[in-house]
Amino acid sequence: MHFDRLRLRGFKSFVEETDFTISPGLTGVVGPNGCGKSNLVEALRWVMGENSARQMRSGAMDDVIFAGTSTRPPRSFAEVVVTLGNPDRTAPPAYNDSPMLEISRRIDREAGSTYRINGREVRARDVQLLFADIATGAHSTAIVSQGRIGQLINARPVDRRRILEEAAGITGLHSRRHESELR
Ligand code: ATP
Ligand code: MG
Repeated sequence: MHFDRLRLRGFKSFVEETDFTISPGLTGVVGPNGCGKSNLVEALRWVMGENSARQMRSGAMDDVIFAGTSTRPPRSFAEVVVTLGNPDRTAPPAYNDSPMLEISRRIDREAGSTYRINGREVRARDVQLLFADIATGAHSTAIVSQGRIGQLINARPVDRRRILEEAAGITGLHSRRHESELR
């Protein structure tokens, strides 16, 4: 599976609808300080189900919504849509009949987030499990943010194990076991 496209609307500094094509071979995004490079990576993390505002460098989750500037009013919602190509049909069975998957998350001020997979409303958990099953996700080692390497070196063994499990692609199983134990 491959990230093909990322669309943002009202997410942080991306006030206008912004549509990124993620072509194979893309190796970098460059631009001046404050132009939104980190916001772009955070958008990807957010649509995969990130639920920590701190990880979004925000005080509250509503802070990901465009806050306005001296010349533009704030927005009432933010939306991020990611498109995953599934040409080799390697998606988890529940979604594998589709040549591509479109996952979206929208947040309305004071109303929380709504997630959809191919247009159908799902739980945050479903989106998090989907990405865990394909060995990526908001907390996966595929996204390395500043300070992460230092954390890894100083991590407790139990936390380091979690990283190894993610690398082995069994995080989704682990989450499901935890979920069934809670029932
Ligand atoms: P650097 O090269 O310094 O790392 P960057 O390209 O990674 O910069 P970002 O951190 O992605 O930049 O973007 C920071 C900009 O996003 C700031 O100008 C900040 O004001 C703006 N920003 C963040 N959240 C919001 C929001 N909710 N509404 C409007 N603008 C926002
Ligand atoms: Mg940055």
